[in-house]
Amino acid sequence: MQNILDAIVAGASADEFANISLPESYRAVTVHKDEVDMFEGIPSKEKDPRKSLHLDEVPMPELGPGEAIVAVMASAINYNTVWTSIFEPVSTFGFLERYGRESELAKRHDLPYHIVGSDLSGVVLAVGAGVTKWKPGDRVVAHCLSVELESPDGHNDTMLDSSQRIWGFETNFGGLADVAMVKANQLMPKPEHLTWEEAASPGLVNCTAYRQLVSTNGGNMKQGDNVLIWGASGGLGGFATQYALNGGANPVCVVSNEEKANIVRSMGAEMVINRSELAPKFWNDEGTQQNPKEWKRFGAAIRELTGGEDIDIVFEHPGRETFGASVFVTRKGGTITTCASTTGYMHEYDNRYLWMNLKRIISSHFANYRESWEANRLIAQGKIHPTLSRTYTLEETGQASLDVHHNKHQGKVGVLCLSPEEGLGVLNTEMREQHLDAINRFRGI
Ligand code: NAP
Repeated sequence: MQNILDAIVAGASADEFANISLPESYRAVTVHKDEVDMFEGIPSKEKDPRKSLHLDEVPMPELGPGEAIVAVMASAINYNTVWTSIFEPVSTFGFLERYGRESELAKRHDLPYHIVGSDLSGVVLAVGAGVTKWKPGDRVVAHCLSVELESPDGHNDTMLDSSQRIWGFETNFGGLADVAMVKANQLMPKPEHLTWEEAASPGLVNCTAYRQLVSTNGGNMKQGDNVLIWGASGGLGGFATQYALNGGANPVCVVSNEEKANIVRSMGAEMVINRSELAPKFWNDEGTQQNPKEWKRFGAAIRELTGGEDIDIVFEHPGRETFGASVFVTRKGGTITTCASTTGYMHEYDNRYLWMNLKRIISSHFANYRESWEANRLIAQGKIHPTLSRTYTLEETGQASLDVHHNKHQGKVGVLCLSPEEGLGVLNTEMREQHLDAINRFRGI
């Protein structure tokens, strides 16, 4: 891999990159199919990704039509890597087996190991038949929507394709590796004022937050909307907060400590609720019964910040723990957008508050190529910034995943793959200088 790294650092030409032969094998972070039962009987929080994530040398996959092989300079940890590594709610090998049954080409994904990771920044090394928009040497980031688009279903909105999958979660050859294989229509230009690790980090969560909050497929947020953002300094929330501020809305940011509160304040948010201080107890100790009085107390805390107004859009993802409260605090005609259920997917809410007040629940999942492109373009324009708080090496991926699993992280957590150190990859130094203050503040530096 050293010759590839040298070519990237030297800024080799497209022809020079095209002449580099692909290595026969490369380093990749994997889970193993024969270990899916390793955590049986252990409570979720005690399942340790350091035990299930391995750094293996794996063979180079065969490149198919419409695909690209990318040298990965940096990647990032997403919650989906936590799910894969603790084999919850299901083992991801089921996804690979199902995908493998679809076609001869898809069969390549059904392996006894799963290379994880749904973000990357890097350089294209090779493209498959039919790819005209990208060539070896292109500096790229990749979004994680993998679609076949053979059925009519996905042709209005690619997220509706019947064969829609999340790359590196429901497909193999993910980004936590020195090399990744993606569909060429996952590629987007790398924002040139950012380092490799900064550029890799927004990807999945930035695109998801954009669709969930801004897109007409999601919350369709407008200027002046009061937006309640759970985990407002976290992976998704750090971008939702920026989109609310950038779009002239009023974020009401929920976080769990003062350090996180200061980060969202430094982004420009003024209305912040520290949930550890307010300590709303939405559920009884057994987790079987909710307490509407606590929804009301939470709603009162919001009104105190907004001057008596309620919430137009709730940016939901904690799920079971918070969903009843989220439905309650939404104003008449308002919207709850949801993309996840971190604390449990069997939600309960009082439907009277929903139907009598004409509130809507909108589901959202990742983003289509157009939405991803728009979200990446805003990063490239310096209007939305990375929230990368810490960068690990590829060998430390297990620890990085454990930190996210235990909510010990801040914003996004990055991983260096081929890049030998942090701080490399910036081409547009003038633009970086212009945005350095915001980049550092949003990273919590
Ligand atoms: P993250 O970086 O861990 O951030 C989530 C934040 O939620 C935490 O930082 C925490 O912030 C807050 N939180 C945790 N438990 C909570 C609770 N009981 N009550 C209230 N807030 C709580 O994770 P993420 O990357 O934002 O992802 C969040 C969820 O979305 C995960 O389940 C992930 O799988 C899912 N997701 C789905 C999609 C999709 O396309 N459908 C895309 C991305 C992520 P505080 O401690 O500061 O409150």
